[in-house]
Amino acid sequence: MHLHEYQAKTLLADQGVPVPPGRLADSADAAAAAARALGGERWVVKAQVHAGGRGKAGGVRLCASEAEVAAAAQALIGSRLATHQSGPEGLPVAQVLVEAATAVARELYLAALVDRGAGRVALMASAAGGMDIETVAAETPERLLLTHVDPVIGLLPWQGRRLGYGLGLSKPQVAALGEMLAGLYRLLTASDAALVEINPLVVTAAGDLLALDAKVNLDDNALYRHADLAGLRDPAQEDPRELAAAAHQLSYIALDGDIGCMVNGAGLAMATMDLVQLHGGAPANFLDVGGGTSAERVAEAFKLILSDGRVRAVLVNIFGGIVRCDLIAEGIVAAAREVALNVPLVVRLEGTRAAEGLALLAASGLALTTASSLADAAQQAVAAAAARADNCQG
Ligand code: GDP
Ligand code: MN
Repeated sequence: MHLHEYQAKTLLADQGVPVPPGRLADSADAAAAAARALGGERWVVKAQVHAGGRGKAGGVRLCASEAEVAAAAQALIGSRLATHQSGPEGLPVAQVLVEAATAVARELYLAALVDRGAGRVALMASAAGGMDIETVAAETPERLLLTHVDPVIGLLPWQGRRLGYGLGLSKPQVAALGEMLAGLYRLLTASDAALVEINPLVVTAAGDLLALDAKVNLDDNALYRHADLAGLRDPAQEDPRELAAAAHQLSYIALDGDIGCMVNGAGLAMATMDLVQLHGGAPANFLDVGGGTSAERVAEAFKLILSDGRVRAVLVNIFGGIVRCDLIAEGIVAAAREVALNVPLVVRLEGTRAAEGLALLAASGLALTTASSLADAAQQAVAAAAARADNCQG
């Protein structure tokens, strides 16, 4: 689960990490009032969306008067902000964070994250702040400073010193960085976060360290023990199809391809996606309808797949162990009656009551093809999607 910048900054401030003074606003008037209350002569108005890259997309605006703050808030609130991380449709902006502007001398990068490879928490720092850290890691890995925390011993002072001097900081700044790292590490472990990132961490003109931006990604599987953090969820920032899926207990992840996949069981779903790729196609989603699914859930799943405008073919791959194939067929027929099925449908049913399921589908009059094996099904779906793509272009 992602948090907004203002939420992440509150959590960081709770751990003693310095952040700029700021206030949240949901209207132009509230933004102007926030600027007045903060005082000073310059402010930054920042769109609150679950995506980075806001600066380049016009979502971070420097203002020199209350009127400018109000105008910036007016322009951002109620709009959608598209950044290179949000996808082309962008994300809705309901609130802006108004902050006292900082005079920046240097932009650095700092993060604490779970390093699965090392099985430890990694602390990362770079003098190349404000940039995409993935680019830094790929092109100039020597600019990335890294240290791992021993879970038994905890963070040690030398680790902060190594990163701090590596960044070219002065002695008092290195001490401040050490405190900051301790705060990051505490926040990461106490909140079961996967990532706590400050980009940029700035050295101000006065020489102080300040978290100018903040990002926290929480581990969904640990949210059950953090009721307070779970309450920070903002569904408006999440993929509507993934939300609808969650409401029906379907495991659904939207992907970039054009072949909608409906499968029972996570392992079979992965294998199906692999085969689609192997035969030159690209899945539009991962979807596991679950082991003991019902006709209603299948119908919801089917509607979900068809609501994705990119889907050019649907591949249903069900291995009926606990689930009955005739129930799956019922769900498909019910859904196809409700929403027009206007893309090719390839079905592979195998296992419990497969023959009955296939008979139901045949009797329904739905335009579909059946497949005898998983490879056959994947091949047919890839060919059907490719044929439709050609038609659309021709
Ligand atoms: P992001 O683009 O979504 O990562 O948003 P950030 O919060 O990182 O802001 C983008 C950029 O705006 C930062 O890298 C800074 O260069 C700039 N910026 C943000 N706040 C301030 C500020 O208070 N003062 C100055 N000088 N620059 C700022
Ligand atoms: Mn940033």
